[in-house]
Amino acid sequence: MASSPLEYTKKVIVIGDSAVGKTSFIARVTEGRFISDHKATIGVDCAVKSIKRGESTTIRLALWDIGGQEAFRGLMPQFARGSSGIIIVCDVTRKATVDAVRIWKNEADKVLTKLPPCILLVNKFDLPKHIHSVSIEELDTLTEECKLSGWFQTSVKENVNLQVSLEDLSDLMVQFD
Ligand code: GDP
Ligand code: MG
Repeated sequence: MASSPLEYTKKVIVIGDSAVGKTSFIARVTEGRFISDHKATIGVDCAVKSIKRGESTTIRLALWDIGGQEAFRGLMPQFARGSSGIIIVCDVTRKATVDAVRIWKNEADKVLTKLPPCILLVNKFDLPKHIHSVSIEELDTLTEECKLSGWFQTSVKENVNLQVSLEDLSDLMVQFD
């Protein structure tokens, strides 16, 4: 007997410091393009990416872009409400953005009572190794300490590990339901 198709729509918030690649990430996965100039995101934007899992399951991810300004952290309660998944983004070449992952995760934890799956995208891995500011071991430790579901080395610029990160997050969210 063929199983009936399943379709879920899930709210996923994309958070992290300014200029780590959040808006580029959303544009890349939903529109397939890379924006090379940085315009600080004003307000909140949302775009949908459909992820197919198995034969008949589609998860529609509504990706919400918070914008990176510190001030936006104050908006977390309204912004995070009702989200089923969290993507935190940092920049592998800027240690401060990696350290800020803890703060972003804490903010999300304060707001969401039933903690949804949360993945970390360590972005800009295309940039030369000698300017990377954090080791694999440190990222593993951070992931454990912050109770993240996992982390991915990504390049939004070169489209590396973006699809797989969204597939993993989708699987985690479906299991979490
Ligand atoms: P946001 O503030 O987190 O939304 O960051 P943006 O998406 O505006 O990106 C900030 C800057 O980083 C832009 O100039 C992007 O082109 C650049 N950028 C984003 N992702 C990557 C990447 O994977 N590699 C490189 N080299 N640059 C990137
Ligand atoms: Mg932005």
